[in-house]
Amino acid sequence: MRHRERHRTHRTGWLRASVLGANDGIVSTASLVLGVATAGASPEGILIAGVAGLVAGAMSMAAGEYVSVSSQADTERADLARESGELAANPVQEHAELTAIYVKRGLDETLAASVATQLMRHDALGAHGRDELGITDMMAARPVQAALASAGSFAVGAVLPLLMVLWLPATVLIFGVSASSLLFLALLGMLAARAGGAPVVASVARVVFWGALAMALTAGVGALFGVAA
Ligand SMILES: [Zn+2]
Repeated sequence: MRHRERHRTHRTGWLRASVLGANDGIVSTASLVLGVATAGASPEGILIAGVAGLVAGAMSMAAGEYVSVSSQADTERADLARESGELAANPVQEHAELTAIYVKRGLDETLAASVATQLMRHDALGAHGRDELGITDMMAARPVQAALASAGSFAVGAVLPLLMVLWLPATVLIFGVSASSLLFLALLGMLAARAGGAPVVASVARVVFWGALAMALTAGVGALFGVAA
């Protein structure tokens, strides 16, 4: 008999971010490499394009993540500052507000009021932040960590197709990079699904489909320009 269910929702935040980063790294670097290769670039040219893509992608992930998480942190800070002002100015009204929230969640009026009183005595701003604004310590935004994690996971993903460029002979480079990248994507999708407790086949099919589409499109563009040049 199982007495404890294993919930994994709390793990999906950082997991989702790092899988997305690695996924992006594989798809964009492999696509870039394939586009340049089908256009007829030299092996050195292909490698330089791939490395430049790794650096550009990692930096763009870091910048995007930093900006988005910082603005989220600013919003949360402003919300908490406003809440803290309201708590000081209208403690009675704030107590009623919190009571109403607990009544809505299913407590009766008396119990709700008593819970609100005790929680506000313990940590008024914490209780209002959590139950009224939905801000928890766990979710507290950390822009620098988020930026580093995104850039790092992108770079880890991007290195995989680049290693293939280094190892594979030029004759099988296009096929080898596409096939190995789809395999990496499938493995990543599988790991993410297993770790998050989600259905594996659907997860793998999604990442492989989008990866294949991205690579096919950039390879097509490369081939067009290669013929035109
Ligand atoms: Zn409040």
